[in-house]
Amino acid sequence: MPVVPMREILDPAFADRYGVAAINVVDDLTLEAVLAAAADLDAPLIVQTSLKTVKSMGARQFMAIWRARTDEVPVPVTLHLDHCPDREWISICLREGWNSVLFDGSELDVAENTRQTIEVVAEAASYGAQVEGEIESVVGVEDGIGSEEGGEVHPVEVSGEFIAATGIYSFAPAIGTAHGLYKAEPKLTPERVTEIVERHPIPQVLHGGTGLTEAQFTDLIARGCAKVNISTALKIAFVDSHREYLDANPGKHDPPKLLAHVREAVKTMAESHIRIFGSAGRASATRSTTA
Ligand SMILES: [Zn+2]
Repeated sequence: MPVVPMREILDPAFADRYGVAAINVVDDLTLEAVLAAAADLDAPLIVQTSLKTVKSMGARQFMAIWRARTDEVPVPVTLHLDHCPDREWISICLREGWNSVLFDGSELDVAENTRQTIEVVAEAASYGAQVEGEIESVVGVEDGIGSEEGGEVHPVEVSGEFIAATGIYSFAPAIGTAHGLYKAEPKLTPERVTEIVERHPIPQVLHGGTGLTEAQFTDLIARGCAKVNISTALKIAFVDSHREYLDANPGKHDPPKLLAHVREAVKTMAESHIRIFGSAGRASATRSTTA
């Protein structure tokens, strides 16, 4: 099963109301681990890169690793660029072969965000790629993007107008979630997902999922959050598993054993999210709609 366009993964998920994990990887090890999790569970998977990761690894270099790793992957996978306010990097990633991009114009006013998102949608379409849009910034800094302050939340009518005017494929609504770890219980507004989907039935994207309960995930997915972003949970699994291994093996200098331990922790984290989101065993559903 080759790499497929984002819509071939999210169309059936949105129609059948299950969620697909969209996991931010940070390097080749984490990429391999999440692909292995999806393959073991027969699940479709979205792999994402933050702009920071693309800049540190190089777009062309990351794409070469992605192609090599997904060459024989048995489940449908697709590659997405997470929050990117920089048009030049949007263009670079589309040119290199990313399947989907989040143009993050949430710092712009809605009119200017709309104008630029229309351009990004047209540019992406020329590559057969899809665009995720947002008008409200998600609270919390993620890989250098965003702010700790809560931004303005617009009435759902404004989201509807933005979706209709831009032709974006997916939308990231403000629903009270935040990037990073929750310092207090989040006050979610899940009804906003329902209201937006009723007006414009396109896949909604859940940002700031780390720390939500299983019930909160499944409720938001049932309302139309077909793409569920996972970034902080991977960072925690990645860093804590290094620490665990090093604390347990103070005198050892055995990189393959350390890396195997980290890989297992990241894979387990990915599997548990894929199961909660309901996409285990769904790879064939994706295949039948695209056959
Ligand atoms: Zn986000």
